[in-house]
Amino acid sequence: MRKRPDKTLGESLRDHGLSRRGFLKLCAATASLMALPPSMVPAIAAALEQARRPSVIWLSFQECTGCTESLTRAHAPTLEDLILDFISLDYHHTLQAASGDAAEEARFQAMEENKGRYLVIVDGSIPGPDANPGFSTVAGHSNYDILMETVEHAAAVIAVGTCAAFGGLPQARPNPTGAMSVMELVRDKPVINVPGCPPIPMVITGVVAHYLVFGRLPELDGYGRPLAFYGQSIHDRCYRRPFYDKGLFAESFDDEGAKQGWCLYRLGCKGPTTYNACATMKWNDGTSWPVEAGHPCLGCSEPKFWDAGGFYEPVSVPLTLGPTTLLGAGAAGAVVGGGLATLARKQRKEEAGARQPVTVDELEQKLSTTPP
Ligand code: SF4
Ligand code: SF4
Repeated sequence: MRKRPDKTLGESLRDHGLSRRGFLKLCAATASLMALPPSMVPAIAAALEQARRPSVIWLSFQECTGCTESLTRAHAPTLEDLILDFISLDYHHTLQAASGDAAEEARFQAMEENKGRYLVIVDGSIPGPDANPGFSTVAGHSNYDILMETVEHAAAVIAVGTCAAFGGLPQARPNPTGAMSVMELVRDKPVINVPGCPPIPMVITGVVAHYLVFGRLPELDGYGRPLAFYGQSIHDRCYRRPFYDKGLFAESFDDEGAKQGWCLYRLGCKGPTTYNACATMKWNDGTSWPVEAGHPCLGCSEPKFWDAGGFYEPVSVPLTLGPTTLLGAGAAGAVVGGGLATLARKQRKEEAGARQPVTVDELEQKLSTTPP
């Protein structure tokens, strides 16, 4: 598990057999991932080549391991695999080979050797200081004590998953363990929230890549989420949006509207009030996402989503069209449905195009014309 933290990222990747071409591909993916223009790619390549791999301590508290599963269930070879070489993952409850005293020793050693420079990643919520410390312990110590001890000399803290970012399921009413989020407890360090139940793996790695390239955390929204990934709502980027705008809604999971791919708003879709990148980055290596598979968005990247009403109850946001227009639009649905399906497909294509993929050849050409 321990890796030499004194190597640069370029050296580490070469040690693992990554070719120059593979490295450039990685930089292109990183730029695309962070929604940066292709002109930034040479700078990313230079920064990643020289970057020192930061020590990372990953703490898991009241959680289901879904966030770690999300990170590890990536399809090879992808950025997710390579990111494990970006960092020196010195402590991780689920992934580390060490156990018992040796595991705890690894945490203390990483904290000591990298004082003020290491990153702490947390998944899971934490029973607060006033809760019974026995609700959740590791090696006989309460989650709260471990968190506060570990973050004391950290450079920054990344709260991965909705439980760490907002309290999540453990904090849902009646919150029997007094669960709190990282941000509620850690006040004197930069904390970045990467919510989702679980979060998209590329978003987790994208935040770490951003830290490596720029040496600081990305721009955040009011909930401490990176704007590059959480800056727009699911609804704003949903390919079913043209149906919503025309008032064409599926009323059940097997009616004609559902078969035509109409909007899932009336089946409880929380897309209009949910900010996440599912509609563009998708899941399972970009294969699909819940709304594309016919299921409403549950709003999993928002605070209090477990307590925010029934998963299959419509959200109370105003519809774009009034009831009269909706009625008319519904009657005309069969006629316009086909045209809207085409529009929806076009929108999906445009979304993919808007991410400005960079080819390896373009990158090589840019690098050869960039002064050292
Ligand atoms: S399916 Fe959901 S996210 Fe998509 S347009 Fe309808 S309400 Fe919006
Ligand atoms: S579609 Fe909605 S509920 Fe599903 S993963 Fe994305 S944000 Fe979470």
